[in-house]
Amino acid sequence: MTSSSTTDQRKVLILGIDGGTWDLLDRLMSDGTMPRLAGLLEDGAKGVLRSVCPPLTPAAWATVLTGKGPGGHGVLDFRRTPSRFTPPEGRKREFVSSKLLPRPYLYDLVGNAGRRVVSINVPMTYPPHEINGLMITGMFTPRGSPFTYPPELQEKLGDYEVDLRPGEGPQVDAWLLGREEDVAYESDPLVRGCRRILAKRADAALTLMDEESWSLFFIVLTGGDRICHHLWKQLSDEGDPLFRDIHQQIRQFFAELDAVIAKLVDAAGPDTSTVLVSDHGFGSAARKKVYFDLWLQEQNLAYRKTSAIAALRKAPGNRIARLAVKKLLKLILPARKSIALIQKVGESELDQVTDNSRTLVKSRPLYTGVCGFDLNPDLAAPGSETYEETRRRLIEGLADVRDPDSGERIVEQAVRREDIYQGPFTEAAPDVVAQLNPAYVPVVDPWPGRLVTDLPKPAEGDHRFEGIFALLSPQAVAGTIKPRNLEDVAPTILYLLGLAIPDDMTGQVIREAIREDRIKADPPRRQSAEPGSQDAPAEQPVYSEEEEADIEQRLKDIGYL
Ligand SMILES: [Zn+2]
Repeated sequence: MTSSSTTDQRKVLILGIDGGTWDLLDRLMSDGTMPRLAGLLEDGAKGVLRSVCPPLTPAAWATVLTGKGPGGHGVLDFRRTPSRFTPPEGRKREFVSSKLLPRPYLYDLVGNAGRRVVSINVPMTYPPHEINGLMITGMFTPRGSPFTYPPELQEKLGDYEVDLRPGEGPQVDAWLLGREEDVAYESDPLVRGCRRILAKRADAALTLMDEESWSLFFIVLTGGDRICHHLWKQLSDEGDPLFRDIHQQIRQFFAELDAVIAKLVDAAGPDTSTVLVSDHGFGSAARKKVYFDLWLQEQNLAYRKTSAIAALRKAPGNRIARLAVKKLLKLILPARKSIALIQKVGESELDQVTDNSRTLVKSRPLYTGVCGFDLNPDLAAPGSETYEETRRRLIEGLADVRDPDSGERIVEQAVRREDIYQGPFTEAAPDVVAQLNPAYVPVVDPWPGRLVTDLPKPAEGDHRFEGIFALLSPQAVAGTIKPRNLEDVAPTILYLLGLAIPDDMTGQVIREAIREDRIKADPPRRQSAEPGSQDAPAEQPVYSEEEEADIEQRLKDIGYL
């Protein structure tokens, strides 16, 4: 370790704003809700930070922690998603955890240089593990499980809460009754929960910042993401008198977030570089569902068993009953929940009626606005002529899939997996990945009827690729910089700490944000990566059955599943 001796005084504070988006923050800064952030940004470099594909919380924070995209860390979803052609016995899917992070990752690199890390609420850090410093875990921490390293830290934290309490999610009852005024009112516990947790997290962070010595301090603030998911419409329709109360409460949350950001930046000291970073942005949720498997059948890339078609013809009653159940689900559940449920049932039902001996392609929805496509390895093995020909045909065809109602193109861009992923987990990704117009969510359903259907109650917000980056530091160049990628964050942090960047990190230092004289005096250094290792994915499962159930419930509470 050349210039990275323990005497190096350089410090970096990473403020993770889960779901941060300039669309919203700019509005809150200009209307006076977040004056301190506005002040801090005046001297900072600011720009759009493009998320990974899919723009999903665990995949994105794993990229910040490793400096690698999903091809480098293998996290594409809340659980590891297998190809749709994987036989049922190979489909057991555990929730993602810190065991999946390829080592050494950011904290190891800082720790190996003799520098200390404090990590608070960063998703993908559970289970807590040894680092040179302290850790409080974040998303995917089961309730009641130890959440700190070292373990004795937990006691010191008193009534700290990792996440919202049960019942602090969106209120299904109001949706059931379809009364928007109730939705506006009932969302109050969500905002109150977010405010309480923000206050506790800030207290813990300020205490640790003061008492501990550290070079890297990384905290993720999550409330904004939860609020944007459920209250995007209320946030956007400022003039609507129906939302006046809830709007005041949301504004209060963001005012408090503003104060917390300012306190943390202050406490970190004037010589610390602060990096503001989101995992993904936000926008309106999808309005329509798209069933790519139906399109694949029309293209003769997928086939149903003839017996299944015959059975359906013979038993129209079953189908009518099923449609009735679906209608009911739509009435009683918010959009995301009904999608998740239909999706779960749909995949196994569709697999049962699919003729795998002839089907070349199945869709693998990754998230709103992102759909993967798995090729049948028995008919089109990677590298074979059929494989490449099928991918070419698929990519070409997807470019022209249109909404039958509006004639609009649904797919913005479809690419081969190796065009967006690099690294050992590229082969676990779908063979083709399509980025959609964000108004569409891909869904698997055996009997969709038509290619596109409307979504019920599309009032919520959902993730977008365009998130936020800012560098607040004496070394920052004030002004707006060009859009950058999430993979660029880890190399930039290592550079700001004066550390070398392993050559297997795929991103680049965000030089445009940093003063030229600083870069000239101390150009970024690369070093060859240490032979990597990843804790073997689960000889011992990370989560017990109860813990799995708890995480699932939490994700349901906040509306993700
Ligand atoms: Zn997120």
